[in-house]
Amino acid sequence: MPESSSRIFRFAPSPNGALHLGHAYSALLNHDLARAAGARLLLRHEDIDRARCTLAFERAVEADLRWLGVAVEDRPRRQSEHFADYRAALEALEGEGLVYPAFMTRGQVRAFAERWQEENGRPWPRDPDGAPLYPALDRSLSARERAERIAEGAPFAWRLDMAAACARTGPLSWTEEGGGEPGGVRVAAEPQAWGDVMLARRDLPTSYHLSVVVDDALQGVTDVVRGADLLPATSVHRVLQSLLGLPAPAYRHHALILGPDGRKLSKSARDAGLAALREAGLTPADVRRMVGSGGEIGEPA
Ligand code: GLU
Repeated sequence: MPESSSRIFRFAPSPNGALHLGHAYSALLNHDLARAAGARLLLRHEDIDRARCTLAFERAVEADLRWLGVAVEDRPRRQSEHFADYRAALEALEGEGLVYPAFMTRGQVRAFAERWQEENGRPWPRDPDGAPLYPALDRSLSARERAERIAEGAPFAWRLDMAAACARTGPLSWTEEGGGEPGGVRVAAEPQAWGDVMLARRDLPTSYHLSVVVDDALQGVTDVVRGADLLPATSVHRVLQSLLGLPAPAYRHHALILGPDGRKLSKSARDAGLAALREAGLTPADVRRMVGSGGEIGEPA
Protein backbone atom coordinates (compact mmCIF):
# COMPACT_ATOMS: atom_id res chain seq x y z
CA MET A 1 0.00 0.00 0.00
CA PRO A 2 1.70 3.25 -1.04
CA GLU A 3 1.91 5.66 1.90
CA SER A 4 1.24 9.03 0.34
CA SER A 5 -0.68 12.11 1.25
CA SER A 6 -2.35 12.10 -2.16
CA ARG A 7 -4.72 9.41 -0.91
CA ILE A 8 -8.31 10.39 -0.16
CA PHE A 9 -10.77 8.44 2.01
CA ARG A 10 -14.45 9.24 2.49
CA PHE A 11 -17.26 8.45 4.91
CA ALA A 12 -20.58 8.63 3.04
CA PRO A 13 -23.66 8.05 5.20
CA SER A 14 -27.22 8.85 4.16
CA PRO A 15 -28.70 11.46 6.48
CA ASN A 16 -31.97 9.57 6.86
CA GLY A 17 -31.60 8.60 10.51
CA ALA A 18 -29.29 8.69 13.50
CA LEU A 19 -25.84 7.12 13.21
CA HIS A 20 -25.47 3.89 15.18
CA LEU A 21 -22.48 1.82 16.30
CA GLY A 22 -22.05 0.34 12.83
CA HIS A 23 -21.54 3.81 11.37
CA ALA A 24 -19.22 4.66 14.26
CA TYR A 25 -17.07 1.66 13.40
CA SER A 26 -16.95 2.61 9.72
CA ALA A 27 -16.16 6.26 10.47
CA LEU A 28 -13.45 5.36 13.02
CA LEU A 29 -11.86 2.86 10.63
CA ASN A 30 -11.81 5.45 7.84
CA HIS A 31 -10.33 7.97 10.24
CA ASP A 32 -7.63 5.63 11.55
CA LEU A 33 -6.62 4.35 8.10
CA ALA A 34 -6.56 7.85 6.63
CA ARG A 35 -4.50 9.13 9.51
CA ALA A 36 -2.02 6.23 9.26
CA ALA A 37 -1.63 6.94 5.53
CA GLY A 38 -1.33 10.71 5.97
CA ALA A 39 -4.42 10.91 3.74
CA ARG A 40 -7.42 13.26 3.57
CA LEU A 41 -10.83 12.21 4.89
CA LEU A 42 -14.00 13.61 3.31
CA LEU A 43 -17.59 13.46 4.50
CA ARG A 44 -20.31 13.04 1.88
CA HIS A 45 -24.01 13.31 2.59
CA GLU A 46 -25.73 10.77 0.33
CA ASP A 47 -29.08 12.51 0.41
CA ILE A 48 -30.61 11.79 -3.01
CA ASP A 49 -33.68 10.34 -1.28
CA ARG A 50 -35.37 13.67 -0.72
CA ALA A 51 -38.31 12.11 1.13
CA ARG A 52 -36.19 10.55 3.87
CA CYS A 53 -33.07 12.71 4.21
CA THR A 54 -33.14 15.87 6.30
CA LEU A 55 -30.81 18.71 7.26
CA ALA A 56 -31.42 17.87 10.91
CA PHE A 57 -30.01 14.36 10.39
CA GLU A 58 -27.05 15.88 8.51
CA ARG A 59 -26.25 18.13 11.44
CA ALA A 60 -26.61 15.17 13.79
CA VAL A 61 -24.15 13.15 11.67
CA GLU A 62 -21.63 15.98 11.86
CA ALA A 63 -22.12 16.37 15.62
CA ASP A 64 -21.66 12.61 16.14
CA LEU A 65 -18.43 12.61 14.13
CA ARG A 66 -17.07 15.58 16.09
CA TRP A 67 -17.90 13.81 19.34
CA LEU A 68 -16.19 10.63 18.14
CA GLY A 69 -13.06 12.59 17.20
CA VAL A 70 -13.42 11.82 13.50
CA ALA A 71 -12.08 14.94 11.82
CA VAL A 72 -13.46 15.39 8.31
CA GLU A 73 -12.74 18.24 5.92
CA ASP A 74 -15.03 21.26 5.85
CA ARG A 75 -17.81 21.66 3.31
CA PRO A 76 -18.99 18.08 2.86
CA ARG A 77 -20.43 17.24 -0.54
CA ARG A 78 -24.20 17.00 -0.53
CA GLN A 79 -25.40 14.79 -3.37
CA SER A 80 -28.72 16.59 -3.76
CA GLU A 81 -26.78 19.65 -4.95
CA HIS A 82 -25.14 17.76 -7.80
CA PHE A 83 -27.93 16.16 -9.80
CA ALA A 84 -26.50 17.78 -12.96
CA ASP A 85 -23.30 15.72 -12.60
CA TYR A 86 -25.26 12.47 -12.36
CA ARG A 87 -27.52 13.48 -15.24
CA ALA A 88 -24.47 14.11 -17.43
CA ALA A 89 -23.13 10.62 -16.65
CA LEU A 90 -26.51 9.09 -17.43
CA GLU A 91 -26.67 10.99 -20.72
CA ALA A 92 -23.21 9.68 -21.64
CA LEU A 93 -24.46 6.12 -21.14
CA GLU A 94 -27.64 6.93 -23.04
CA GLY A 95 -25.54 8.24 -25.92
CA GLU A 96 -23.75 4.89 -26.01
CA GLY A 97 -27.08 3.04 -26.14
CA LEU A 98 -26.31 1.29 -22.84
CA VAL A 99 -29.40 2.37 -20.85
CA TYR A 100 -33.08 2.06 -21.63
CA PRO A 101 -36.35 3.40 -20.21
CA ALA A 102 -37.85 0.82 -17.85
CA PHE A 103 -41.59 1.15 -17.36
CA MET A 104 -42.30 -1.57 -14.79
CA THR A 105 -42.59 -0.64 -11.12
CA ARG A 106 -40.91 -2.75 -8.43
CA GLY A 107 -44.35 -4.13 -7.57
CA GLN A 108 -44.94 -5.16 -11.18
CA VAL A 109 -41.53 -6.88 -11.28
CA ARG A 110 -42.39 -8.79 -8.09
CA ALA A 111 -45.72 -9.86 -9.59
CA PHE A 112 -43.97 -10.92 -12.81
CA ALA A 113 -41.48 -13.03 -10.80
CA GLU A 114 -44.28 -14.72 -8.83
CA ARG A 115 -46.26 -15.52 -11.97
CA TRP A 116 -43.14 -16.87 -13.67
CA GLN A 117 -42.42 -19.15 -10.70
CA GLU A 118 -46.01 -20.46 -10.69
CA GLU A 119 -45.81 -21.22 -14.38
CA ASN A 120 -42.30 -22.69 -14.40
CA GLY A 121 -42.03 -24.35 -11.00
CA ARG A 122 -38.70 -22.70 -10.17
CA PRO A 123 -37.81 -19.28 -8.81
CA TRP A 124 -37.14 -16.25 -11.00
CA PRO A 125 -33.51 -15.11 -10.40
CA ARG A 126 -32.85 -12.50 -7.74
CA ASP A 127 -30.04 -9.96 -7.29
CA PRO A 128 -27.58 -10.01 -4.35
CA ASP A 129 -29.99 -7.80 -2.37
CA GLY A 130 -32.80 -10.31 -2.91
CA ALA A 131 -34.84 -8.29 -5.42
CA PRO A 132 -36.11 -10.09 -8.55
CA LEU A 133 -34.05 -9.27 -11.64
CA TYR A 134 -35.67 -6.86 -14.08
CA PRO A 135 -37.32 -8.82 -16.92
CA ALA A 136 -36.07 -8.29 -20.47
CA LEU A 137 -39.43 -6.99 -21.75
CA ASP A 138 -38.62 -3.27 -21.87
CA ARG A 139 -35.07 -3.83 -23.09
CA SER A 140 -36.44 -5.44 -26.23
CA LEU A 141 -38.97 -2.69 -27.08
CA SER A 142 -38.33 -1.02 -30.43
CA ALA A 143 -37.30 2.63 -30.50
CA ARG A 144 -40.77 3.44 -31.83
CA GLU A 145 -42.60 1.55 -29.05
CA ARG A 146 -40.44 3.34 -26.47
CA ALA A 147 -41.13 6.73 -27.98
CA GLU A 148 -44.87 5.99 -28.06
CA ARG A 149 -45.01 4.97 -24.41
CA ILE A 150 -43.03 8.03 -23.36
CA ALA A 151 -45.29 10.26 -25.48
CA GLU A 152 -48.31 8.71 -23.73
CA GLY A 153 -46.80 9.97 -20.47
CA ALA A 154 -45.88 6.53 -19.04
CA PRO A 155 -43.48 7.07 -16.10
CA PHE A 156 -40.14 5.28 -16.40
CA ALA A 157 -36.79 4.72 -14.71
CA TRP A 158 -33.47 4.27 -16.55
CA ARG A 159 -31.84 0.86 -16.38
CA LEU A 160 -28.44 -0.35 -17.54
CA ASP A 161 -28.42 -2.99 -20.26
CA MET A 162 -26.04 -5.18 -18.26
CA ALA A 163 -25.35 -7.70 -21.01
CA ALA A 164 -24.39 -4.93 -23.44
CA ALA A 165 -22.39 -3.16 -20.71
CA CYS A 166 -20.42 -6.31 -19.83
CA ALA A 167 -19.77 -7.04 -23.51
CA ARG A 168 -18.32 -3.53 -23.72
CA THR A 169 -16.15 -3.69 -20.57
CA GLY A 170 -14.95 -7.30 -20.65
CA PRO A 171 -14.01 -8.95 -17.32
CA LEU A 172 -13.41 -6.54 -14.44
CA SER A 173 -11.93 -6.80 -10.97
CA TRP A 174 -10.95 -4.63 -8.05
CA THR A 175 -8.33 -4.49 -5.29
CA GLU A 176 -9.77 -5.55 -1.95
CA GLU A 177 -7.64 -4.52 1.00
CA GLY A 178 -7.77 -5.42 4.65
CA GLY A 179 -7.53 -9.19 4.36
CA GLY A 180 -3.97 -9.31 5.64
CA GLU A 181 -2.35 -9.63 2.20
CA PRO A 182 0.07 -6.76 1.57
CA GLY A 183 -1.32 -4.79 -1.37
CA GLY A 184 -4.69 -6.51 -1.09
CA VAL A 185 -6.20 -9.21 -3.30
CA ARG A 186 -7.91 -8.95 -6.71
CA VAL A 187 -11.61 -9.78 -6.63
CA ALA A 188 -13.38 -10.63 -9.87
CA ALA A 189 -16.50 -8.50 -10.46
CA GLU A 190 -19.77 -10.37 -11.05
CA PRO A 191 -22.09 -7.66 -12.30
CA GLN A 192 -24.36 -10.06 -14.20
CA ALA A 193 -25.73 -11.16 -10.82
CA TRP A 194 -27.49 -7.77 -10.65
CA GLY A 195 -29.15 -7.87 -14.03
CA ASP A 196 -30.26 -4.54 -15.46
CA VAL A 197 -29.69 -2.31 -12.43
CA MET A 198 -31.59 0.94 -12.07
CA LEU A 199 -29.41 3.99 -12.72
CA ALA A 200 -32.04 6.70 -12.42
CA ARG A 201 -35.33 6.49 -10.60
CA ARG A 202 -38.67 7.65 -11.95
CA ASP A 203 -38.54 10.70 -9.72
CA LEU A 204 -34.77 11.38 -9.76
CA PRO A 205 -32.05 11.66 -12.41
CA THR A 206 -29.86 9.25 -10.44
CA SER A 207 -29.57 6.27 -8.10
CA TYR A 208 -27.21 5.13 -5.34
CA HIS A 209 -24.96 3.27 -7.82
CA LEU A 210 -24.60 6.12 -10.30
CA SER A 211 -24.04 8.91 -7.79
CA VAL A 212 -21.53 7.00 -5.66
CA VAL A 213 -19.38 6.22 -8.70
CA VAL A 214 -19.55 9.75 -10.12
CA ASP A 215 -18.78 11.34 -6.73
CA ASP A 216 -15.90 9.04 -5.82
CA ALA A 217 -14.27 10.01 -9.12
CA LEU A 218 -15.09 13.74 -8.92
CA GLN A 219 -13.77 13.89 -5.36
CA GLY A 220 -10.58 11.99 -6.25
CA VAL A 221 -11.36 9.22 -3.75
CA THR A 222 -8.59 6.61 -3.76
CA ASP A 223 -9.77 4.43 -0.88
CA VAL A 224 -13.34 3.29 -0.29
CA VAL A 225 -13.79 1.81 3.19
CA ARG A 226 -17.35 0.68 3.82
CA GLY A 227 -19.46 -2.16 5.19
CA ALA A 228 -19.39 -5.69 3.78
CA ASP A 229 -23.07 -5.33 2.87
CA LEU A 230 -21.91 -3.16 -0.06
CA LEU A 231 -19.34 -5.64 -1.37
CA PRO A 232 -21.65 -7.10 -4.06
CA ALA A 233 -22.53 -3.57 -5.26
CA THR A 234 -18.84 -3.00 -6.05
CA SER A 235 -19.30 -5.17 -9.14
CA VAL A 236 -21.83 -2.66 -10.48
CA HIS A 237 -19.57 0.22 -9.52
CA ARG A 238 -16.67 -1.28 -11.47
CA VAL A 239 -18.85 -1.59 -14.58
CA LEU A 240 -19.95 2.05 -14.34
CA GLN A 241 -16.38 3.24 -13.73
CA SER A 242 -15.20 1.33 -16.77
CA LEU A 243 -18.02 2.59 -19.02
CA LEU A 244 -17.59 6.20 -17.89
CA GLY A 245 -13.78 6.13 -18.06
CA LEU A 246 -13.41 6.77 -14.32
CA PRO A 247 -10.56 5.48 -12.14
CA ALA A 248 -11.19 2.60 -9.73
CA PRO A 249 -10.40 3.27 -6.07
CA ALA A 250 -9.07 0.50 -3.82
CA TYR A 251 -11.83 -1.03 -1.69
CA ARG A 252 -11.95 -2.36 1.82
CA HIS A 253 -15.26 -3.86 2.92
CA HIS A 254 -15.25 -4.24 6.67
CA ALA A 255 -17.21 -6.65 8.85
CA LEU A 256 -20.59 -5.35 9.96
CA ILE A 257 -21.33 -4.63 13.56
CA LEU A 258 -24.10 -6.96 14.60
CA GLY A 259 -26.64 -6.53 17.35
CA PRO A 260 -26.70 -8.95 20.32
CA ASP A 261 -29.18 -11.09 18.38
CA GLY A 262 -26.77 -11.39 15.45
CA ARG A 263 -28.69 -9.14 13.08
CA LYS A 264 -27.33 -6.15 11.15
CA LEU A 265 -27.90 -2.83 12.92
CA SER A 266 -30.35 -0.44 11.34
CA LYS A 267 -31.33 3.16 11.80
CA SER A 268 -34.68 2.04 13.16
CA ALA A 269 -35.59 2.97 16.70
CA ARG A 270 -34.58 -0.46 18.01
CA ASP A 271 -30.86 0.26 17.68
CA ALA A 272 -29.46 2.94 19.93
CA GLY A 273 -28.04 5.90 18.04
CA LEU A 274 -24.71 7.42 19.00
CA ALA A 275 -26.44 10.49 20.41
CA ALA A 276 -28.45 8.28 22.78
CA LEU A 277 -25.27 6.53 23.93
CA ARG A 278 -23.64 9.91 24.47
CA GLU A 279 -26.61 11.11 26.50
CA ALA A 280 -26.43 7.91 28.54
CA GLY A 281 -22.93 8.97 29.59
CA LEU A 282 -20.74 6.86 27.30
CA THR A 283 -17.49 8.33 26.02
CA PRO A 284 -15.92 8.02 22.55
CA ALA A 285 -13.39 5.65 24.13
CA ASP A 286 -16.32 3.44 25.26
CA VAL A 287 -17.62 3.41 21.69
CA ARG A 288 -14.19 2.40 20.39
CA ARG A 289 -14.10 -0.44 22.89
CA MET A 290 -17.65 -1.53 22.03
CA VAL A 291 -17.02 -1.77 18.31
CA GLY A 292 -13.49 -3.11 18.74
CA SER A 293 -12.26 -4.42 15.44
CA GLY A 294 -15.70 -5.10 14.00
CA GLY A 295 -18.05 -7.99 14.49
CA GLU A 296 -20.33 -8.22 17.50
CA ILE A 297 -20.88 -5.31 19.83
CA GLY A 298 -19.03 -5.66 23.11
CA GLU A 299 -20.04 -4.18 26.45
CA PRO A 300 -18.50 -0.82 27.34
CA ALA A 301 -15.64 -1.43 29.81
N1 GLU B 1 -24.61 5.91 1.57
C1 GLU B 1 -24.34 4.50 1.76
C2 GLU B 1 -24.92 4.06 3.09
O1 GLU B 1 -25.21 4.87 3.93
C3 GLU B 1 -22.86 4.19 1.76
C4 GLU B 1 -22.29 4.35 0.43
C5 GLU B 1 -20.84 3.94 0.29
O2 GLU B 1 -20.07 3.96 1.26
O3 GLU B 1 -20.47 3.63 -0.83
O4 GLU B 1 -25.09 2.86 3.26
